[in-house]
Amino acid sequence: SSAPAARTALVTGGSRGIGAAIALRLAQDGADVAITYVANEDAAQEVVRKIEATGRRGLALRADSADPADAAGVVERTVAGLGGRLDILVNNAGIGLLGPLEYFPVADVGQLLAVNVQGVFLTTQAAATKLARGGRIVTIGSCMAQRVPGPGGTLYATSKAALIGLTKALARELGERGITANIVHPGPIDTDMNPADGPYAAGQSAMTALGRFGAADEVASMVAFLSSDEAAYVTGAEFSVDGGHAA
Ligand code: NDP
Repeated sequence: SSAPAARTALVTGGSRGIGAAIALRLAQDGADVAITYVANEDAAQEVVRKIEATGRRGLALRADSADPADAAGVVERTVAGLGGRLDILVNNAGIGLLGPLEYFPVADVGQLLAVNVQGVFLTTQAAATKLARGGRIVTIGSCMAQRVPGPGGTLYATSKAALIGLTKALARELGERGITANIVHPGPIDTDMNPADGPYAAGQSAMTALGRFGAADEVASMVAFLSSDEAAYVTGAEFSVDGGHAA
């Protein structure tokens, strides 16, 4: 008997941070992995080299999640580049803009919602036409979709809370095909977006039960479980990986 075909995954925003950790972990678990990036081609190619070092195939795709054609088109490019199937979509690409409510110019509102919500929706819509039976959709939300511990988060929390609704509706829509949809809410995770030595780091650590930042790998392990065969009966659900931020 021959080994089962490798699974194929698409991780948006896989050039750095949480997305890069997820991409590498899925490859270690046996998937061929495409990642998207918007600006950092060198970082994306470095992640591809690490994926390939596991023996899997890697593919870096420049695609701006804020651009509707890019966000939708990345699915076909993944399928074309990695051998015709798609088993796992990880909606990770996102941007953070914090500030007082009265600050946000409409262009910032549009850009953040375009990346964090519209892009996720359009990539998922395209992926749903390609996902194999038993496929997996894992979306990266935020602890701020559940609890907002202080001022400044209006726009960001709006965008991440929208993804909870998307996840639950997807679970209902795709369940009959055995496709699951779940959302993972990271707490403070040490990345370029939120460095553990940044000006707001101490306050964030203090808001967790564990008293520290998390590592991107600690989010990737939850995504890996939800992407696995073992999680076949888990759908429409929210998972905190936040050191107890929501406790
Ligand atoms: P980083 O800023 O470290 O990395 C962001 C990644 O997304 C990069 O790969 C970047 O590509 C890509 N990206 C950004 N904008 C776009 C775009 N328009 N189109 C395509 N790709 C894009 O972020 P994190 O790893 O910290 O965050 C990942 C996710 O986790 C986000 O959704 C974030 O909101 C969420 N999150 C993060 C938390 C944290 O504390 N770090 C906490 C809770 C949630 P490039 O390298 O080309 O710029």
